[in-house]
Amino acid sequence: MNIDNTYDPTNISKKYLSGEKFTNQVSIEQGFSVELYEVSEKLAFIKNFGNVAAFKEGSKGLLIDTGMGVSSNQVINKLKEWGVDEIEYIIYTHGHVDHVGGADLIVNAFKNDFLKIVSHEKVVERFNRYKKTIGYNGIINQRQFGLPAPVFPSEFKYPDITYSDTYEINFHDSVIKLIHGKGETDDATYLYSEKEDAIFTGDFFIWSLPNAGNPSKAQRYVGSWGEVLRDMSQYNVEYLFPGHGPLIQGKKTIREILVNTSNCLLWIEENVLKLMNEGNSLRDIQKKISLPVEFNQPYLVSSYDDFTFLINSVWRQYGGWYSGIPSELKPPSLFEIGNAYIDMAGGKENLLLFLESLLAEKKYKEASVIIDAISAVEPDFYRDLKNLIYSFLADQEPSLMAKGIYNFNIDT
Ligand SMILES: [Zn+2]
Repeated sequence: MNIDNTYDPTNISKKYLSGEKFTNQVSIEQGFSVELYEVSEKLAFIKNFGNVAAFKEGSKGLLIDTGMGVSSNQVINKLKEWGVDEIEYIIYTHGHVDHVGGADLIVNAFKNDFLKIVSHEKVVERFNRYKKTIGYNGIINQRQFGLPAPVFPSEFKYPDITYSDTYEINFHDSVIKLIHGKGETDDATYLYSEKEDAIFTGDFFIWSLPNAGNPSKAQRYVGSWGEVLRDMSQYNVEYLFPGHGPLIQGKKTIREILVNTSNCLLWIEENVLKLMNEGNSLRDIQKKISLPVEFNQPYLVSSYDDFTFLINSVWRQYGGWYSGIPSELKPPSLFEIGNAYIDMAGGKENLLLFLESLLAEKKYKEASVIIDAISAVEPDFYRDLKNLIYSFLADQEPSLMAKGIYNFNIDT
């Protein structure tokens, strides 16, 4: 029996898939109202920013992810209401803070001697890396999610057990298989339970174009992400628990979603590599590739990441950071370029008039290239125009990451 009759994530999924209703699932607000949906007496989906899945046997529980720390008390209350008194295992699908941030509070709330945290071995390296980049990651989160200040934890709950390729956990009469794959991260795990007829994707599926291209994060893996999703589709399960967004039910639907998403990622990698091998620069490739219409699906929209960022990601993975444009190899400072633009226009007023004429023709991107440079020379003089350009660009973007970066450059 469903303990909360009003919340049914499988219905929300159906609405999303029919195109009837769609909101961005990768928004932090998702974590402010935690819901628990009982799939069976022994399995629950917990909606959060970074969803949680819970197995239950008697009063003992196993969790897949913990969600972010800010909503942990809600998660703890939902689990207790559902009848969980003790937790035997917490499995991390990967080490991102929206999936593991709540671990400390949850472990403390269900304290016992036998609780074990399990993850892929590279989660340890990730946490070590995070400790070196707390300031940087705080700024990225502030920019990406439009937060008032930098936010990033300084402590992480490390795993007790790590594995490299596959691992199995016997939780009473359920066998839970952990499989490593590279996609959003190099430390990712997806899970399969035959008895529950369910797959737990972590962030391999998040109800938007896979965020394999984030401009401010360590390398992500477009092609191997596609391969993992293809492998997942072969389990032919009844339930798909995504890392973000609502639970999906139905074998045919799940197979279709996984195969389409896989094909989309494999298509991107294959086509970028083809153009790289033909000698194109990164910028040429960005202009030459657009997604085929078959990938025009509600769950492949660039609402979080952006299609063009995935191109950059493939380029960086296989080709390094040189864009292929010689002036970008050892560029002058923005200040020096800005001065050259102003001289070329015959003064800052002339250049302002020229930029206004560009905006009249809706050439906001062209104007943004110039405004970045000249704002380094005359920040006060060009501030209003810069704000206008980046407000316009932010409004035009469907992608949360692109919006975040443009908005961050609006100087109020
Ligand atoms: Zn996530």
